[in-house]
Amino acid sequence: MTPYTDSTEVAQYIQGARTTGSSTRTQAVYNPATGAVARQVRLGNQADVNAAVASAAAAFPKWADTPPIRRARVMFKFLELLNAKKDEFARVITAEHGKVFTDAQGEVARGIDIVEFACGISQLLKGDFTDQVSTGIDNWTLRQPLGVVAGITPFNFPVMVPMWMFPVAIAAGNTFVLKPSPLDPSASLMIADLFKEAGLPDGVFNVVQGDKEAVDALLEHPDVKAISFVGSTPIANRIYEVGAHHGKRVQALGGAKNHMVVMPDADIDQAVDALIGAGYGSAGERCMAISVAVLVGDVAERLIPKLLERTKTLKVLDGMNLAAEMGPIVTQAAHDRITGYIAQGVSEGATLLHDGRNFSGAAAGAGCDKGFWMGGTLFDNVTADMKIYKEEIFGPVLSCVHVKDLAEAVDLINAHEFGNGVSCFTRDGNVAREFSRRIQVGMVGINVPIPVPMAWHGFGGWKKSLFGDMHAYGEEGVRFYTKQKSIMQRWPESIGKGAEFVMPTAK
Ligand code: NAD
Repeated sequence: MTPYTDSTEVAQYIQGARTTGSSTRTQAVYNPATGAVARQVRLGNQADVNAAVASAAAAFPKWADTPPIRRARVMFKFLELLNAKKDEFARVITAEHGKVFTDAQGEVARGIDIVEFACGISQLLKGDFTDQVSTGIDNWTLRQPLGVVAGITPFNFPVMVPMWMFPVAIAAGNTFVLKPSPLDPSASLMIADLFKEAGLPDGVFNVVQGDKEAVDALLEHPDVKAISFVGSTPIANRIYEVGAHHGKRVQALGGAKNHMVVMPDADIDQAVDALIGAGYGSAGERCMAISVAVLVGDVAERLIPKLLERTKTLKVLDGMNLAAEMGPIVTQAAHDRITGYIAQGVSEGATLLHDGRNFSGAAAGAGCDKGFWMGGTLFDNVTADMKIYKEEIFGPVLSCVHVKDLAEAVDLINAHEFGNGVSCFTRDGNVAREFSRRIQVGMVGINVPIPVPMAWHGFGGWKKSLFGDMHAYGEEGVRFYTKQKSIMQRWPESIGKGAEFVMPTAK
């Protein structure tokens, strides 16, 4: 495998080989820790998308006909190779995204979980059967792949989020076109190379780098049968509408504003640990990051001093420094957006307890002075009408909101337009049960700050955090990437004489 961090350009992977494609547009890929341009990514055009889809369409009939257990064996081999290279993937993630190396290792591990799940595809595709639905007639269902399916993924998990999609899609017999984020594109080609080595037939997995142009070409292409999207809500909404308009199956996962409720009976030190890790881990650039602490009753006066102390002493360092707790922001543009939100919070009247804008990159390590750095920011007295509460900031900014009781916390959260993840810290089983049942959010953690479901449970939020009805991976993922077919069968010995003109019923 080529050491990707040495390459100067990242381009397409079509029909089992890397290719420049026909596009002439490129975009800089940065090392966020240093601010330096590391390489260029070639932004695929319609012709590149057409070539990738044609390759995937040509590979589909044979791959779909390959017995699931043989498809699973390719996935097992891929898994083995992936495990051998997992730290290399983590290094590439840190180099292009900025997140700390141990966090990048965790991302790869969570992606590997889904590959392991997909290795069980034979069991997952098993249909059901009813003997004798009518005299001499049996009825069964089976699930068949859709054809060419596409995945469009965000910058914040360049390995894990594509792995929410392609392992299940490919194991189920589809062929795949991945359109990764142009901000950290290198891992996608490493994945393609490993699939080749694992024996995946050419054309089953393709990559087109790019931006809106490539995405629009995928959305409009008649041979793309389904689109899985993960990214921000405005784009997710549009992908859902345009994809559906073009007759495709679409699951489009969007943005988030995740709350963590701390009840007065919670263990304060545990709650502070959870808020620090889930608020500032990966610089808050996680769709399951906690961005709002909902402090119930008198918990605030006990929790805030400890939270503030920890925010001030956060270890913001180069991601390859193993002592680092938080790395840089992905791009200068994202940095500007986040600092804009902090200024907005101040002008809206929130209390700025700690200002991450004061952090200088020089403190993060050698060569970091021009990187996209900031420290953790902590706001108190944030209210539901403020922009910093309503909108997704997607950075290391934690807002504290005060409420009087559990009912007020639930009402506050349920009124928010996002519903991705939520958490409640308490020792009270009844509070935990009531909270879990009443909250209008797709993924709930009880004393768990980032409740990302395991590979066989499926991932998805509610409200504006998910457009579509099927969650990613797990059994819903298998359903998303397959069509159910019902077969009803009888043999000539069971067929009575004469035409029947009435609606058939069980006899
Ligand atoms: P983004 O919406 O900017 O980009 C996502 C993908 O869409 C990328 O591949 C990008 O190239 C493409 N894209 C961007 N603009 C487009 C346009 N105008 N038309 C068509 N395609 C376009 O998101 P991002 O900044 O890469 O990722 C961060 C966002 O993703 C956050 O909002 C975060 O909450 C969300 N996210 C959600 C989940 C989830 O599971 N719900 C998981 C991870 C990230």
